[in-house]
Amino acid sequence: MTHFSMIEMIKEKRAGKAHAPETLATFVRRLVAGELPDYQVSAWLMAVCWKGMTIEETTELTRLVAETGDVLDLSSVPGPTVDKHSTGGVGDKVTLIFAPLLAAAGATVAKLSGRGLGHTGGTIDKLEAIANFDCGLSEEAFLGQLRETRAAIASQTQDLAPADGILYALRDVTGTVESIPLIAVSVLSKKIAAGSDAILLDVKAGAGAFMPSVEAAKELSETMLEVGRRLGKKVICVVTGMDQPLGHEIGHANEVAEAIATLKGEGPADLTDLCIELGALLLQAAGLVATPAEGEAKLKAAIADGSALAKLREIIVAQGGDPRVIEDLSLLPQAKYRVPVPALQEGYVQDLNALGVGLAGKTLGAGRQTKGEAIDLAVGIHLSKKVGDHVNAGEPLGYLLANDEAKAAVAAEQLRAAYTLGATAPAPQPLIKAVLGPDTLATAGR
Ligand code: URA
Repeated sequence: MTHFSMIEMIKEKRAGKAHAPETLATFVRRLVAGELPDYQVSAWLMAVCWKGMTIEETTELTRLVAETGDVLDLSSVPGPTVDKHSTGGVGDKVTLIFAPLLAAAGATVAKLSGRGLGHTGGTIDKLEAIANFDCGLSEEAFLGQLRETRAAIASQTQDLAPADGILYALRDVTGTVESIPLIAVSVLSKKIAAGSDAILLDVKAGAGAFMPSVEAAKELSETMLEVGRRLGKKVICVVTGMDQPLGHEIGHANEVAEAIATLKGEGPADLTDLCIELGALLLQAAGLVATPAEGEAKLKAAIADGSALAKLREIIVAQGGDPRVIEDLSLLPQAKYRVPVPALQEGYVQDLNALGVGLAGKTLGAGRQTKGEAIDLAVGIHLSKKVGDHVNAGEPLGYLLANDEAKAAVAAEQLRAAYTLGATAPAPQPLIKAVLGPDTLATAGR
């Protein structure tokens, strides 16, 4: 392509060709200048979903997107600085636990998070369930908070990788999320702009993830490791299961409540174990512990002695939120109705389709149907039964936290359909499927 033309760029990708670096550079420049109409960008995104991108294109686009805004300079902050990102799941409230937990264990957690995408939830939406919690920190406020508190969770502002913000919002509503190069560009551009020393990427695999299989999640991990390597970043990827939602709560306010319980040592085992195992790998990558076992002991101690919970309080106070929520969960937004969804037959839960649960949450109003739409922070789902549990006919599989009875009726059917019941309990599956990273770390599947 000699002259840049968005139509030609779409056709080039539709034909499965690789874009030249200059084409990508012009595309990104015009995208952030607001010169490209949404429909053309969306058509190009769809072409990428079908035809993919080479590792060279993916690396170049990641670099260009990262450079559309500020690249944070964390040199004034006590190290080591760590960051974590999930490719998105259902009930994934790990960041809410992880940030205070790792900060209590001696790392500095500079976390930039996003809003919900597709059927998955986003940390920033969840945090907004805490009254007055301000995620829109300026760079100066973010750095200041990191120096004081050693942890801050801010929304990816227009100042950081703004091109990703534009693409992310469009992908959310055009069915173009599920693409390895687009996810790699999105995740790594933000992580590079955010400037931490060590980055852990939690790559979700399964029905409720953008990568449906462990194989696809490993392929995404390998792409992100390679792009990270080419751009000089220390990245670890952990492939974790997302066949069923994480923990028992899916929504916003109720996920915040579950995160608080976990920091009190009263959380569900799957969520608690995952936070500790991922955290231990990151503490090791950051050089704060010699082995994952040492990291796990340190993190368990931070929960047991209350220092992780105290750190959450500090973060909430620093970001203007109401810390009384830690003792009084009724201060979180409350839904009008709590509707049980009874099982129609007796059996063991063989499968709990996370995508189905995520879509039921979206029906209740927990997710966006169109760009920029407001969401309802009070609604969500409580799962009483998870894979392996026994349920009697008529016993609740879960409860819908709803503000609208008609939506609840549809969501109840979606939730029930997400459950597969059978005569026997399935064998338990490990949540961590593989760890891929720098040579010093374990790379075998676990
Ligand atoms: N998380 C991101 O930040 N971007 C994606 O594209 C998917 C998950």
